[in-house]
Amino acid sequence: MNKKITPRVIRIIALQSVLVIVAVTILGGAVITHQKYKAKLENPDSAHSNTADIEEGTQASDAEKNDPEASASSSTTKVPETTSSPDEENYPYAYAGFTPKVTDVNADLSKFIVNGKYSLPADYKPQLAEAVKGSGVYLDYRVAPYYQQMYDAAKADGITLTPISGYRSYNRQKNNFENRIKENMNKGMDKVEATKTAATVIMVPGSSEHNAGLAMDICSLSESFENYKEFEWLNEHAAEYGFILRYPKDERSREITGVVYEPWHYRFVGVEVAKEIKSKGITFEEYVGVA
Ligand SMILES: [Zn+2]
Repeated sequence: MNKKITPRVIRIIALQSVLVIVAVTILGGAVITHQKYKAKLENPDSAHSNTADIEEGTQASDAEKNDPEASASSSTTKVPETTSSPDEENYPYAYAGFTPKVTDVNADLSKFIVNGKYSLPADYKPQLAEAVKGSGVYLDYRVAPYYQQMYDAAKADGITLTPISGYRSYNRQKNNFENRIKENMNKGMDKVEATKTAATVIMVPGSSEHNAGLAMDICSLSESFENYKEFEWLNEHAAEYGFILRYPKDERSREITGVVYEPWHYRFVGVEVAKEIKSKGITFEEYVGVA
């Protein structure tokens, strides 16, 4: 039997529709908020609303803007790895003048040098641990506990050292780098020029400390981070937890490290060494003896 469509029935239907729309809106909002939060954790770019002062091209090297390792959530994730090791003959970007030596991956963390001249083997894969419980950002398992300690100590002082970008795999670095080469070639550059230009904004694969899980980008990827209270705290206390500001502001450091000032990038070297490097005001390259 058909119900009569009375004004009362219409009102009920209309009310139900409104309730459904409200529920969908609330749920949808929650999902979007969650996705934004996830994106914030996974993509440093979206962690800033103000990206004006981190334009690409003004920051040399380091692939900071290119996302921590999404697959880092599991050190057992199966990622196809190439087996070739970078060396002066077969490093894949030798055609553009990049001929790093293979760094000693068995070196003590206080001597483990990773830079444009000393690159990780393509198959290097550190054992990982979460830097801060629940953050989804990973570091070498030997480093992560120190980050957690530093994070907790800062927290007790009312400072939050948000881990933005930790471990990033060699292959992720390679994908970022090669995508940039393609973009540059699409703009009309030849392969050599496209590769050299890519290397000014993204470190060549294997030459970022993030590929080793030894460094963390903290809070921000903006040079203005140096004005934050979090930066001030790090300046005062990072060495107590074994971390150094890896790419200092002065020109001399820039020449030695090959990387412009990055107030957010902290490298673990161990407590004693971090204190020594800080008190002497030297770069890690100088400490290791490869400057
Ligand atoms: Zn970094």
